[in-house]
Amino acid sequence: MKETPSGTPVGVDDPYDHVGVCDRLTDEGKCRYAFEHPEQDPEFARERREDDLRCPAANPDSEASCASNASGETASDWDWETCPHFRCRNRDRECIRCGLDERRMAHSDERPLLEEHHLSYAGEGGTLSHEITVYLCRWCHAKVHKSWARIDDDVNPDPEAIAEREGRRSREQSEAAFESAADRFDLGEE
Ligand SMILES: [Zn+2]
Ligand SMILES: [Zn+2]
Repeated sequence: MKETPSGTPVGVDDPYDHVGVCDRLTDEGKCRYAFEHPEQDPEFARERREDDLRCPAANPDSEASCASNASGETASDWDWETCPHFRCRNRDRECIRCGLDERRMAHSDERPLLEEHHLSYAGEGGTLSHEITVYLCRWCHAKVHKSWARIDDDVNPDPEAIAEREGRRSREQSEAAFESAADRFDLGEE
């Protein structure tokens, strides 16, 4: 199993089995990184610009990415793992292991139920490496690091996690009820 730099398990064998599309991919299949940060990797940015900023990993079947360049190389065998600037920080606000969703109280500094967990770190080991993160609830997160749980275990939320979430839900409802009551007496501009 993969481990963090400090030697605790991350809960997967291959982080790339759990990634979605690159954070830097636009809806048009182009590379935002090459567009916004050409100075950070000029050669990479130049190659992307030559192909109209198309992402070769996201457009494997496109004519443009399969066309050979002068030296006969094609970009068609790219995948996320190949790209030096892939990054995937999962934004689904639920635990990838047990499905617990976040209840975030407005105006509250309560500890979040979900925590960001790294499957892979940028800069790790000096070789090609990517930042890949998912969300885990506090309970699953502890199990992954401390007891070798896997992020794809088929489990239900921990009873403690459910109790915590339900407590927040009811506090949220009473807060919302209070605010809508306050609104009814608000005669200010719309
Ligand atoms: Zn969980
Ligand atoms: Zn973690």
